[in-house]
Amino acid sequence: MSQYHAPLAEMRFVLTELAGLAQVATLPGFEDAAPDTAAAVLDEAAKFASNVLDPLNVIGDREGARRLDDGSVVMPPGFKDAYRQFCENGWNGLTKPTEHGGQGLPQLLGTAVEEMWHSANLAFNLCPLLTQGAIEAIALVGSPELKERYLEKMVAGTWAGTMNLTESQAGSDLAAVRTRAVPQGDGTYRLFGQKIFITYGEHDYTENIIHLVLARTPDAPAGVKGISLFVVPKFLVDSDGKLGARNDVRCVSIEHKLGIHASPTAVLAYGDHGGAVGYLVGEENRGLEYMFIMMNLARFSVGMEGVGISERAYQRAVAYAKDRVQGRAVGLDPKASAPPIIEHPDIRRMLMTMRAQTEAMRAVAYVTAAAMDNARRNPDPSARSRHQAFVDFMIPIVKGCSTETAQEIASLGVQVHGGMGFIEETGAAQHYRDVRITTIYEGTTAIQANDFIGRKTARDGGAVARAIAAEMDKVAQELAGHGDASLKAIAARLAESVTALRAAVDWIVPAYGTNPRAAHAVSVPYLKLWGLVAGGWQLGRGALVAARHLAAGEGDARFLSAKVQTARYYAEALLPQVRGLAQAVTGAGEPALTLAAEQF
Ligand SMILES: Cc1cc2nc3c(=O)[nH]c(=O)nc-3n(C[C@H](O)[C@H](O)[C@H](O)COP(=O)(O)OP(=O)(O)OC[C@H]3O[C@@H](n4cnc5c(N)ncnc54)[C@H](O)[C@@H]3O)c2cc1C
Repeated sequence: MSQYHAPLAEMRFVLTELAGLAQVATLPGFEDAAPDTAAAVLDEAAKFASNVLDPLNVIGDREGARRLDDGSVVMPPGFKDAYRQFCENGWNGLTKPTEHGGQGLPQLLGTAVEEMWHSANLAFNLCPLLTQGAIEAIALVGSPELKERYLEKMVAGTWAGTMNLTESQAGSDLAAVRTRAVPQGDGTYRLFGQKIFITYGEHDYTENIIHLVLARTPDAPAGVKGISLFVVPKFLVDSDGKLGARNDVRCVSIEHKLGIHASPTAVLAYGDHGGAVGYLVGEENRGLEYMFIMMNLARFSVGMEGVGISERAYQRAVAYAKDRVQGRAVGLDPKASAPPIIEHPDIRRMLMTMRAQTEAMRAVAYVTAAAMDNARRNPDPSARSRHQAFVDFMIPIVKGCSTETAQEIASLGVQVHGGMGFIEETGAAQHYRDVRITTIYEGTTAIQANDFIGRKTARDGGAVARAIAAEMDKVAQELAGHGDASLKAIAARLAESVTALRAAVDWIVPAYGTNPRAAHAVSVPYLKLWGLVAGGWQLGRGALVAARHLAAGEGDARFLSAKVQTARYYAEALLPQVRGLAQAVTGAGEPALTLAAEQF
């Protein structure tokens, strides 16, 4: 059985050389993220991930969370204790503001740490992830009283949080939310309705659970403009912060799922006994607007789930490939004893694909995280807005493409194991099952792609898209000017890819207005195309840095030359797909729509 080891050398490389951790540490309030502190945080997180979370992953899968008849939910053995340790060590508040008891570290550093949690135990980390979303909502628009009453305990992890958007008729389309919130005349509301699929909607980790709930007030306008956001605690909280009566919210059932068995996915009934007491967050009818602001972070985190599981699936596949002996490897000494399967060229192809895609997605995500920090903290307003535009553009790529690619990687992980990949005991199958949800929750890939072609590409006439493409070109040119043959090869593929990407932008921008059905029919290929090229862009940057260090005789030569060769593999093996995707974008929209619904 393979054990998870955080890829610390790779993480440090991306953090420092590509995402600019040193620059982020100069931003106001981030002085504590200096390189030695960052290294210590990463080392400690790596130990916690390997020693505490990773061993529980398979237990969580086998045992699952269990709902008892009284509506309570019991977590699998070891999970509650791991959660206690997680909070006691301060991991829950790593990036949260210091005024609420957090450590105030940058999103960039938090992203590397978060990747480790996802790799080691995705189901476990969903509780902190959802709590983070709820904290974000209250911190962003909550009243001073709400902040005072809830944030410190939530940042400490003493109370957990949830996000209650989905109802049976309101999934991708939140305009269809029906849960009612009736004002009581004393500033509180009573909520009535049912929410489904609520992650960690009930569990035994914490003494209280703070539900963030979307609902409609009685006179609210129809559609998205009539949705408000409420805090609904499982136990009411006195003005002095003490827990009071049980609120009228109950876990009616939890779902039986394909994966993430240790994450309880609850159906929550509000108001069966007179109404659940709720407190408005921000202003009435602006709930969805608040959700969209927060969604950037939540979607980004789900993208990181894709990166985390990909890394874990890769590590497991490598361990198996070095151990399993089967057949004679073509081209090697036929008289030598049978080698492990890692010597088969096709196994190399699969491992290189897993490795290159994971490194590409990680680099794209960390660079985006650094831009998030700059968008919030850079003292220069024009730099803040430039970084925010980049973040807004990249979020659907990180969410949509990291999770879609992770499906392929987890599948390749099973394939490397042969028949044993299909058998649960190797663990490869669990990654394949667990990762399946990541393209669905926090908005399906289609929902990301709709946002990407509309708000992110067409709305500004493709301006941000073309500005990013110009940055990619600069990297291609720098690679082309290099004497090294590998770097030249990367340059050629990257330059071709950026040309294809521009052609796709040139098609999407007008088509979004003139032929919206065709544009939407190719929105996912368009998103994937961007993800592929963005990965090549960042790996190309990494190859340049690695070549520079190699030429100067600095650093670990084996690690650095592997960076160059992994980037070259990505460029030669994966970037050629860009041309096909660009052709699909410009040509497949109409054909996708020619059959009538009854012809299916
Ligand atoms: C394990 C799990 C955990 C979850 N956790 C939470 C949680 O904590 N809180 C919460 O509120 N929700 C949660 N969800 C709900 C999740 O966010 C929704 O399932 C998701 O948003 C999709 O909604 P849906 O299931 O209703 O699918 P639908 O919206 O019915 O979508 C079905 C299909 O139609 C497509 N589709 C729908 N609309 C469009 C469109 N406009 N354009 C193109 N294609 C479209 C979708 O892409 C999809 O392929 C969770 C779900 C699961 C399974």
